[in-house]
Amino acid sequence: MMNVDEALEMVLQRTGAKRAQTVTLPHALGSILAADVASDIDSPPHDKSLVDGYAVRAADVGRTDVDLKVIEEVTAGATPTREVTAGTATRIMTGAPIPKGADAIIMVEQTERVAPVAVAEAAARQPAVVRILAQRVQAGQHIMRRATSLRANEMVLARGTLVRPIEIGLLAEVGQAEVAVTPPPTVAVLSTGNELVMVGDVPAPGQIRNSNGPMLGALVDRAGGRPIDLGIGRDDQTSLTQLVSRGLESDVLVLSGGVSAGVLDLVPGVLASLGVEQVFHKVNLKPGKPVWFGVLPNSSGDHSSCDKLIFGLPGNPVSSLVCFELFVRPAIARLAGKRADQLSTQQARLTSPHHHRGDRPTYFPARLSFVDGQQQVELLAWKGSADLRTLSSANCLAYFPQGERSYQTGDEVSVAMLP
Ligand code: AMP
Ligand code: MG
Repeated sequence: MMNVDEALEMVLQRTGAKRAQTVTLPHALGSILAADVASDIDSPPHDKSLVDGYAVRAADVGRTDVDLKVIEEVTAGATPTREVTAGTATRIMTGAPIPKGADAIIMVEQTERVAPVAVAEAAARQPAVVRILAQRVQAGQHIMRRATSLRANEMVLARGTLVRPIEIGLLAEVGQAEVAVTPPPTVAVLSTGNELVMVGDVPAPGQIRNSNGPMLGALVDRAGGRPIDLGIGRDDQTSLTQLVSRGLESDVLVLSGGVSAGVLDLVPGVLASLGVEQVFHKVNLKPGKPVWFGVLPNSSGDHSSCDKLIFGLPGNPVSSLVCFELFVRPAIARLAGKRADQLSTQQARLTSPHHHRGDRPTYFPARLSFVDGQQQVELLAWKGSADLRTLSSANCLAYFPQGERSYQTGDEVSVAMLP
């Protein structure tokens, strides 16, 4: 049987990237940048004041109070017209450009108005003279120099970056009214099984609710895909053939159930009859051994789409989740143009002893926490692959390699984070 790394490699080999598309800035939210983005401006565009106060020559201020003649007032959006010379100051507001001659800003709180305010001056909100209180002053204080944040033509966002609200702001700052993004892949989700009823229904004897459908849809969403819910497919050739055909219109089709060794596990046969080529069936892992993967080659000659990917996940919810994380998420991430498309793992210490006797590498639902400066992982007492309730306390999967081994409290294991 193939191991997880080999299987993932085969999935990624068959996974292309979708073609970029240009959208207006607000529509870029949640997408992945398809090209590097450079700035068309310096930011800030001028040396600017970081506070409300007075632009002065640092050499004029120091050990004792000093009175300076106020020559001008500059608000944000305006530009200074007069040079600050010895004995003078310019009243300046946050964000406004620094006048020539000035090399420091004194915060307004460090000053006093001294001269009687003339009527005309009051209208301009400008005292004729300002007293700068004795203080230590450094040249450059409260000034942000031009292009400190970014320079014109400098790359500010790399291709593959997820556009969050922060990136929307940065893209706006650098003038990107339209943005090239990779559109999220469409991912059809089809839950198969005669025993399944819809969420809103009460299961009759022998029936269970379709929990995989909604869970897989949510996983697709988090992975950067656009889920399309195909509902429940019954375990018969006609029903499955019709729904699978619809699913093959999407970039990816994720099926749950019907890939094990039961008499009604019809999924592989139906896929084959619709031209889907099997790449692998069964991987050496636990839970999730029956996982199935195949492709429908792009025969349309349309180069904007790639081969379609088809994943048959085992029906047990925990198996479905594990297989999704190991194989489907990386494929969706790559299709969506993301930079990092592999599961991120880290090391953590076990909070209790554990005896692992596994004929297969095992992914164990667990809870990672940060205690006394170190990462700890608690294995959850889950009651088999159908136990979603216990899984809900999990935030990671702890990994145990194949073979028998007794782990002690404090032993390090590798864990993969769950979304
Ligand atoms: P299967 O992979 O079809 O053999 O299903 C394995 C187990 O998972 C069975 O106990 C099914 O009842 C259960 N199962 C299958 N599909 C779902 C689903 N959509 N939601 C919850 N449990 C499921
Ligand atoms: Mg089934």
